Amino acid sequence: MTDSAVIVGGGVIGLATAHRLACDGLAVTVVDAARGSTGASAHNAGWIVPIMSAPVPAPGMLGQALRWMARKDSPLYVRPSPRPEHVRFMVRMLRHCNPRDFHHGVEALVTLNERTVSLFDAYEKDGVRFEYHRTGQLMAFHTREAMRRYQAEAMSLERIGHTAVPLSGDELRDLEPALGRHVRAGLRCPQERHVDPASLVKSLEDRCRELGVRFLHDRPVTGIRSRGHVVTSVLAGNEEVSGDLFVLAAGAHTGPLSRLAGFPLPIQPGKGYGFDDTSDSVALRHPVYLGEAKVAVTPLEGRLRFAGTMEFGSSDLSIDVHRLRGIVRAAHEFLPGFPSTYRPRGWAGLRPMTPDGLPVIGPLPGKDNMLVASGHCMLGVTLAPMTAELISALIAGDHRASGVARPFTPRRFAPRPGRTLGRRLRRGG
Ligand SMILES: Cc1cc2nc3c(=O)[nH]c(=O)nc-3n(C[C@H](O)[C@H](O)[C@H](O)COP(=O)(O)OP(=O)(O)OC[C@H]3O[C@@H](n4cnc5c(N)ncnc54)[C@H](O)[C@@H]3O)c2cc1C
Repeated sequence: MTDSAVIVGGGVIGLATAHRLACDGLAVTVVDAARGSTGASAHNAGWIVPIMSAPVPAPGMLGQALRWMARKDSPLYVRPSPRPEHVRFMVRMLRHCNPRDFHHGVEALVTLNERTVSLFDAYEKDGVRFEYHRTGQLMAFHTREAMRRYQAEAMSLERIGHTAVPLSGDELRDLEPALGRHVRAGLRCPQERHVDPASLVKSLEDRCRELGVRFLHDRPVTGIRSRGHVVTSVLAGNEEVSGDLFVLAAGAHTGPLSRLAGFPLPIQPGKGYGFDDTSDSVALRHPVYLGEAKVAVTPLEGRLRFAGTMEFGSSDLSIDVHRLRGIVRAAHEFLPGFPSTYRPRGWAGLRPMTPDGLPVIGPLPGKDNMLVASGHCMLGVTLAPMTAELISALIAGDHRASGVARPFTPRRFAPRPGRTLGRRLRRGG
């Protein structure tokens, strides 16, 4: 019987899971290495976007990445790193850049996103008070071809009621006069939402406390104790925290923790950057995706948030000014009122990336009472409530949930017997 749960990681995924399990009546403890939610969950664009249900590894990504490799301010940058796990990860990701894996990923993500918007609405009803906007989202492009690619991808979302309506440049400017003359085509996605992500994590934590969740902050988990296949406790600072069930939700740091539990998951950081503009140089009513530049612009109370870029190969939060300048340049190209000379004070966040671009949700192989909720790549805010629903349903043994969760199982990263044998033979072991 499961009476208590320990969740490692208090980002949006850990908090959403804690909230759900506390509502199920479990005694929940959240253990986090930091003092508050300082991870990617507080620093992101805040978009609730089922319409963007697409894995990062996509056909054509290799060519695009190679073209961008030489530019440090490009939307995608692979920092040269000799770390073997980084090299292995990049090779694995490239293998998934094919139409079959991409379409499989889109289908799985669309299904996972079926209830996303209604689950966010339910948070409000449950007393989670956060900055929540229902304006829909716009996508702006310099060319019609770029728009059509996104439109084609968005078609598969129609079955869950999310639409992308094509617009001309002028129609877009009627909605957002700040967009420049070079914007020639766009999409309007009326069902999408956005939030202030810092207010979301704070209000989830507040609501969890009201439901009796215990928080242990500033306690990095450094060890996992087991008796056979059963995890008995995690070591957090100098405290041993025990429970009936454990959930690894440590974002980009989940890989090393899963290794401690005997099953290393290939989750690597994908660093993103952003900044908040409070100067009022540009006013927007909708969140706007600056298509070719892959930059998200989000109107929040009192500021405009710019976020984007994907950088592999770095695992700290240091700021590379070239990457920030790339976002400023894109802002100026699409929104001419935005000053090209702007020198922002930026922030960075680490997205938990997986080689196939899909989250990792489900039981950790080799352990009877440990689950994983991580690897949400660019969609962690969007997928947080549904991930929590799945974890709750998996604990309850719900068969329908097992079906939905199948594409996300950690087991897909188990070494294939043939390969392990081959490696052993090569090593002469
Ligand atoms: C620039 C940018 C823009 C983005 N925009 C969006 C968006 O618009 N919409 C969207 O859906 N997603 C977006 N994302 C992605 C989203 O932010 C992430 O997918 C999501 O925040 C991941 O949440 P998490 O809880 O898994 O990880 P995190 O937020 O990183 O939380 C993990 C927590 O685990 C803790 N931890 C780590 N190691 C340990 C340990 N050993 N012991 C205990 N605790 C530990 C950390 O302190 C942290 O609090 C964006 C990301 C970035 C960087």
